[in-house]
Amino acid sequence: MALKARTGRPKPRPREGAGRDPSEGPGKPVPLSVLGITGSIGDSAVSLARCYPDRVRVVAMAAGRNVEKLKALVEEFRPEIVSVRGESERSRLLELLRESGRGSCPEISIGPGGLETVAAAGPEGTVVLSAVSGAAGLKPTWAALKAGRRVALANKESMVLAGDFIMPRMGRLVVPVDSEHSAVFQALGGTLDAKGAERLILTCSGGPFFGRGADELERVTSAEALAHPSWSMGPKITVDSATLLNKGLEVIEAHHLFQMPWDRIRVVVHPQSVIHSMVEHADGQVTAVMGPADMRAPISYALGFPERWPLLGGGGAKLPGYAPLAFDGALTFAEPDRRSFPCLRLAEEAGRSGGGAPAVLNAAGEVAVQAFLRGEIGFMGIPRLMGECLHRLGAAKLLRLEDALEEDLRARSLALQLLNGMRGRA
Ligand code: NDP
Ligand code: MG
Repeated sequence: MALKARTGRPKPRPREGAGRDPSEGPGKPVPLSVLGITGSIGDSAVSLARCYPDRVRVVAMAAGRNVEKLKALVEEFRPEIVSVRGESERSRLLELLRESGRGSCPEISIGPGGLETVAAAGPEGTVVLSAVSGAAGLKPTWAALKAGRRVALANKESMVLAGDFIMPRMGRLVVPVDSEHSAVFQALGGTLDAKGAERLILTCSGGPFFGRGADELERVTSAEALAHPSWSMGPKITVDSATLLNKGLEVIEAHHLFQMPWDRIRVVVHPQSVIHSMVEHADGQVTAVMGPADMRAPISYALGFPERWPLLGGGGAKLPGYAPLAFDGALTFAEPDRRSFPCLRLAEEAGRSGGGAPAVLNAAGEVAVQAFLRGEIGFMGIPRLMGECLHRLGAAKLLRLEDALEEDLRARSLALQLLNGMRGRA
């Protein structure tokens, strides 16, 4: 649901790579390739595909290691092609599919190359939901764009590492899925063009530790960090929501997606997660997009754009477990605390530094969060490790997409080395 000023804006035009003209009604289902189908965003996409087979048909899927879950999805959706992490996962998937003997096997590709193959597969008009977690999502996102696919982009790391490279070349094919960026996209009237906007205001739930000081945060556990108050997501992004690194990555994502200068992107803590983000217009009026804290809303919007799917049931199937907003409480706003949550500040600084700094920030963050989840470092060890990597590696100049991936590898290797020194001091 969007609260919009009545400006008589022209109807948004479908973006390139779109499956069909919305004026023709649901018609034929749009072919969909889901990268990261076994994850949290993947679950939401599967739920939508089950409920709206007249709108979307899963034709390709990529997973990592969760072969059992993938096998069930292959049997349900019968894709033409799938990919998994490596040879052992492919053998296991083949074995499971043969054992159950339910129909023919899809083509199975493996590794990073397999992800890219799935990203570019499918018939003309296939939409790609890019939802692998981490920097591993960049190459397949790029492969999908190069193949001329519309990309519903959940993988924010693609923008963080290579937004400068992707947006000028392929931005016309990207529709945001991240809830904040989807909200901004909607508040702008269904476009990434934010020229008329004064500021983008990204909302932030504050995570489970909102209001706590740095000293207290030294002692929080991974179980506490994984208990997000309003969103259910994969483990990496859930910890990032607790450190506010997620919001920092989203500031960088917004800068690239909407070509917005750094000093015109503001972060506001809004613990109720009802407003998903806002656009402040030149006249000071603000368009806010509100809705259920359920990723199926922005995913369906990106898949169907410019059409909205009837998730509430009007004239179509009602999405199970999807509840409309209750309008039963206060909406509050606060400034984020960048002293107790230094990851937000580190990300904003890395974004402004540009070049390889965002890739370093992200890689160090991925290593640090895994170490925190394994109990090897404390919660505040995450920003310490990231800060040290940024300090040592700086902002290398990037000329090609591959340069961002090289920075990613350099930062991972340094972060692992530094981690050895930090272990035991957790
Ligand atoms: P999850 O951890 O739940 O899922 C990650 C998915 O990526 C899984 O399918 C996993 O496969 C797959 N995967 C990970 N690494 C690889 C690899 N190297 N090769 C192939 N597949 C791989 O993550 P989320 O769904 O939470 O997040 C996905 C992306 O969407 C992230 O970039 C996140 O920032 C973004 N996002 C997520 C939101 C959410 O609500 N969850 C909201 C907004 C953005 P497997 O499990 O089979 O190993
Ligand atoms: Mg988000």
